[in-house]
Amino acid sequence: MRSLRILFATLTIASIISSEMFSQTPRSDTFQTSVGPLEIHHVGHASLYFVFNGKTIHVDPFGRMGDYSSLPKADLILVTHAHGDHLDPQTIKTISKQETKIILNKDSYKTLQKGQILENGDETEVLGLSIKAVPAYNIIHKREDGEPFHPKGRDNGYVILFADTKVYIAGDTENIPEMAKLKEIDIAFLPMNLPYTMTPEMCKEAALMVKPKILFPYHYKMGESDPEKFARLMEGISGIEVRFRQD
Ligand code: ZN
Ligand code: ZN
Repeated sequence: MRSLRILFATLTIASIISSEMFSQTPRSDTFQTSVGPLEIHHVGHASLYFVFNGKTIHVDPFGRMGDYSSLPKADLILVTHAHGDHLDPQTIKTISKQETKIILNKDSYKTLQKGQILENGDETEVLGLSIKAVPAYNIIHKREDGEPFHPKGRDNGYVILFADTKVYIAGDTENIPEMAKLKEIDIAFLPMNLPYTMTPEMCKEAALMVKPKILFPYHYKMGESDPEKFARLMEGISGIEVRFRQD
């Protein structure tokens, strides 16, 4: 993202660490790509949507995170996996129009019965965007029966290329070695809640592997998480700007 231009005031780490950490954070960010603006709207938790080139791309739309009846209808919906805070068939219906395309993992397809399945490593092109499904899984955090919350190979993260701007949405994952293979990520969304995804320390490890220019920690509304600790851990790390956007 050579032409990255930050249109919103940059929050410094120092200003983030305060008791008012999440008050009045912007609900959206706009980045300048080589073909025009990319808007990112933060609905909450794992739910967000992009507006780019006249198209709206929703990610993991979950009805409890916002009033989707008032949000723009989707040209494309990406679903990372079938957990209830990511796959919400009713909300998908709310934001769908006749020509809405859906990309999802195989497990989500079993519930939704429509859309294009992408497995880890698969790539496709939709609406002129190149979209790749990448692994998202747990190594350490497991259910009591020993099964990971997100077993390897089942769920997706996505890397989306908006013209020259590459966005990585990690999905529900830990700091897995595959992250080190991601190249030239401009903007990343990394999850941080327990017991399902990462501790602040793991999220830092993930950030150092992915090396995004802009990092949005996300998926920390449910379960236990400590975003202030994460902000402290990231202090002094140059080249990665952390932006908190959920309130
Ligand atoms: Zn999950
Ligand atoms: Zn989740």
